[in-house]
Amino acid sequence: MIEHSERGMIAHSGRTYEKNDHNTDGDDRALRSEYESIYEQPLEKIIGKRSANKLKKIGLCTVNDLIWHVPFRLAERGKLMPIEAVRDGDCATVVARVLRASMRPMRAKRGYILNITVTDGERDLELAFFSKNPRPLKFHHMQLQPGTIASFSGTISTYRGTLQLTHPDYHLMNTAEDIDTAAIARPIPIYHAGASAPSWKIEQAVDLVLERITPSTMPDPLPEDMRAKHHLPNKYEALLALHHPQSEQEWLIAQKRMAYEEAYVLQVVLAKRRNREQACHANSFPYRPGGLVDAFDEQLPFELTDSQKRIGQVLAQDISSHMPMRRLLQGDVGTGKTVVAVRAMLQVVQSGGQAVLLAPTSVLAYQHYETIQSMLGDLSHGGQIGAPSNAVRVELLTGALSAHDRRSALGRIASGQAQLIVGTHALLDDCVQIPFLGLLVVDEQHRFGVNQRDKLAHGTHMLVMTATPIPRTIAMTSFGDLDVSTLKELPRGRASVQTVLVPAENPLWMARVWERAKEEISSGGRVYVVCPRIADRAVSGASVDDSPSASLPSFPGASVDDFLGASLDDGSLGGFPLIEDEVHTRGGAVPHSLTCVENMVRQLQKEPALQGISVGYVHGRMDGPSKEQAMREFSRGSTPILVATTVIEVGIDVPEASMMVIMDADFFGLSQLHQLRGRIGRSNRASLCLAVHHCSEGSVATQRLEAFSSSTDGAVLAQKDLELRCEGDVLGAQQSGIHSSLRFLSVARDAPIIDEAKKMAHDCVQADPQLDSYPALREAVEAAEKTARAEYIGRS
Ligand code: ADP
Ligand code: MG
Repeated sequence: MIEHSERGMIAHSGRTYEKNDHNTDGDDRALRSEYESIYEQPLEKIIGKRSANKLKKIGLCTVNDLIWHVPFRLAERGKLMPIEAVRDGDCATVVARVLRASMRPMRAKRGYILNITVTDGERDLELAFFSKNPRPLKFHHMQLQPGTIASFSGTISTYRGTLQLTHPDYHLMNTAEDIDTAAIARPIPIYHAGASAPSWKIEQAVDLVLERITPSTMPDPLPEDMRAKHHLPNKYEALLALHHPQSEQEWLIAQKRMAYEEAYVLQVVLAKRRNREQACHANSFPYRPGGLVDAFDEQLPFELTDSQKRIGQVLAQDISSHMPMRRLLQGDVGTGKTVVAVRAMLQVVQSGGQAVLLAPTSVLAYQHYETIQSMLGDLSHGGQIGAPSNAVRVELLTGALSAHDRRSALGRIASGQAQLIVGTHALLDDCVQIPFLGLLVVDEQHRFGVNQRDKLAHGTHMLVMTATPIPRTIAMTSFGDLDVSTLKELPRGRASVQTVLVPAENPLWMARVWERAKEEISSGGRVYVVCPRIADRAVSGASVDDSPSASLPSFPGASVDDFLGASLDDGSLGGFPLIEDEVHTRGGAVPHSLTCVENMVRQLQKEPALQGISVGYVHGRMDGPSKEQAMREFSRGSTPILVATTVIEVGIDVPEASMMVIMDADFFGLSQLHQLRGRIGRSNRASLCLAVHHCSEGSVATQRLEAFSSSTDGAVLAQKDLELRCEGDVLGAQQSGIHSSLRFLSVARDAPIIDEAKKMAHDCVQADPQLDSYPALREAVEAAEKTARAEYIGRS
């Protein structure tokens, strides 16, 4: 994956050509093929077969691969010292004359050693070079003939009581006076290396290759004015500085320049994507007063919040236009996104269109289907005798349907009879035809890939909804092609949710937990008990890691993206494999066995406090109808306590649920905990969340749980999450398909760069959608688009 993405970036970095070359097409092509011939060249042509084979082992095959394999850090060349002054461990540079040099096979191991003794006139120092093959050593041997003067840099070590430098970096000099102090001051580039290709060897190969590259073959996709404004070098200069900076400062500026380029190219890709969508003609579904939407509003048992009304108007406007809507609706759990979406869907239906609500799991799809029907009341009886004339036919399509039901559902969808369609990934099947599709709503968008949702949404309006607060920079990079609306308000009258951390080891506390559950149920509430696993399995206890969840995806769905292309409909897959019951295997072994649904059910049935109370359960391995039944019985109250996996994590809405016990809470990520807790506190009943955990004080897991218990604000928690995790995880959770090519840009650090790039990209694409006057940029953008596509295909 990493290799893949690096290659992707490489592809977009080199094969570009100059913006200022206003050539005719023919010249362009000639120029391009000349560049291609350089950058696409296999390394073997330049550095020889033997070296090329070694670089191939670390994924470097072409010139392009190599020149964008840039040093990941710089080593200090160290102070220029007399040999007398150097000590073990010093990072030092000495200027010295070669006294003796000899090469021989090693005694104990296969391979050769080149020993060189140098002197500064006062003292001697030993140098050593090792290699499996004699050839590279012969090269150094030739360079470092007795009498040669050079500066040698490296870290001093002790070998059998004498100080020595192993694989020093060296620069030849003609005389001792000829000391190039600038060269000595230059930092040493350190490359990610492999056993077959050590850093210094890569450096040698890079140098050979860089000699062949001239500025004219490396055009620059960055606009001149952006470069001038920030005093950035051009691409060629930056490339040189990345490999051979005069100073650390210069190296950092070169990286910043590349970050600008990545941000800019990415934003142009997004701006073009958006432009393309907007050029498509969508059907318009104007709002009609006194129609279906108004009838629906009249039936609602509550008043819409101001936020819901405001965004409702925005959506109504969007879908009454011929320009396809592309909107992201953010709203913390419980802010009431579904109603907003349903109103927009009804506006489409009342003008003769079909509207689809796409949910990530069949449990959620089923729940939406039920909720929508009950919210619509009589209005949902479309196709039935005695229904109101404007009644709507609501259809459910998930992988859990029987073949027969599925066929008839598909028939009603294809004929247009089914107007409001709720479903899972099953809807994305090629055999599903939705001829009058006017609006696609994607709930909990993080569970879907961009390409998946775009497949349905091309040329229609699309609304994607998320309860995961998305930090602004990520929204700009991942969803730069979407308009963003945010539901800020919770519906009135919501009682607060209190969160308490409970140490699992304390039997008194645990007994109290179940007594508390009993009280909750006696007063009409419902209790969720969430477990990380379905069934018990042998657990290896070898790990000493006390926070197995540290490496878990804590943006919900982070890892699910890896599984895109496989159906996420848990009706057919048995749940989100990673999230629901496989996650722990990723974090390595766990120190205590994780609670599983099966055991929990048995335990609760025996629990003294809970005698006489029916315990239900639901998890992803159950078939669709069983899951639906379990949810219904819980909702009705016949099983007021429901043991569940995270299959209930997103979207599930049982307003009476007022208590949640999360077992092994330290196992879950912060956003996932927040989503889970969002299942309670959905009415005016004060609610209680008990997070049962095994974590030790001061661990990251503890910090996460403390953050969790101290705030119910999704945005605050998302920020905390970002702080507690490293960036790679954040990007991994996103799906633009372009991210993996970002090597220099950091979404956590580079907000200003992303901001500026976005504005400039917008202006550029408005003025010149085909980028005709920016050939270098066009090439880079095409390459990035190609990479994104390739990655998507590679995943599916
Ligand atoms: P989410 O944004 O998390 O998807 P839902 O759409 O599931 O939230 O809504 C949460 C609950 O709030 C549902 O029971 C819904 O019926 C209810 N609800 C939505 N809007 C309002 C409102 N304006 N007033 C009261 N309750 C509301
Ligand atoms: Mg929801």
